[in-house]
Amino acid sequence: MRFDIISVLPGLLESPFAHSILQRAQKKGISEIVVHNLRDYSTSKQKSVDDYPYGGGSGMVMTIPPFAACIEKLKSEREYDEVIFMSPDGETLNQAIANQLSGKKNVIILCGHYKGIDQRIRDIYVTREISIGDYVLSGGELPAAVLVDAVVRLIPGVLSDETSALSDSFQDGLLDAPVYTRPADWNGHKVPDILLSGNTPEIEKWRFDQAVERTRARRPDLLDE
Ligand code: SAH
Repeated sequence: MRFDIISVLPGLLESPFAHSILQRAQKKGISEIVVHNLRDYSTSKQKSVDDYPYGGGSGMVMTIPPFAACIEKLKSEREYDEVIFMSPDGETLNQAIANQLSGKKNVIILCGHYKGIDQRIRDIYVTREISIGDYVLSGGELPAAVLVDAVVRLIPGVLSDETSALSDSFQDGLLDAPVYTRPADWNGHKVPDILLSGNTPEIEKWRFDQAVERTRARRPDLLDE
């Protein structure tokens, strides 16, 4: 799966994709993540990408031409399944959306800044608008990194133990059960006996019960769905 991320601050996106699972997914050729510097597509002398808002008021607005030039160039090179704008007023990202997107081939992601982007970019090019939660960040780069991480780890072959994504919180409609590792006894704080029993069916049942219990206590809304 290929992601083309359009950003005015590409430096913000260097580290998130250069480690661990996201790095491995790219090395394995399962996922390709390309960051485009919006300023490279500005035709103005100062390489500007924003301007004053029509109607007045505070804050700058990102202009159409650089986004249009970059999107048009990408679209001339391949077909895209979605052009996603990261935006606090979009649909809130959840595991179901991540699952849907993990089945796509090529996706463009637009990162906003300042007051946001000219509404006409959204009207003309954007096919989906996604928020990572009900709070406002200063730019779309961190949200884009969150989205790409959530999606890429679901692509088959990315996680070495493929079943591990299946039992993650939300994936099966339940929060995950608690997990433990060595030592079995830390200053009198013991690991539940069942996990040391070697009885796999009983352990599976315990994990399921714990997941249901934790979901009931913390996120009863998930059980209603
Ligand atoms: N004036 C806008 C916020 C602009 S914040 C509003 O009130 O809706 C600047 C940019 O940061 C946005 O264009 C968006 O790309 C990004 N951003 C901020 N918060 C976000 C969130 N919760 N989810 C996704 N993107 C967000």
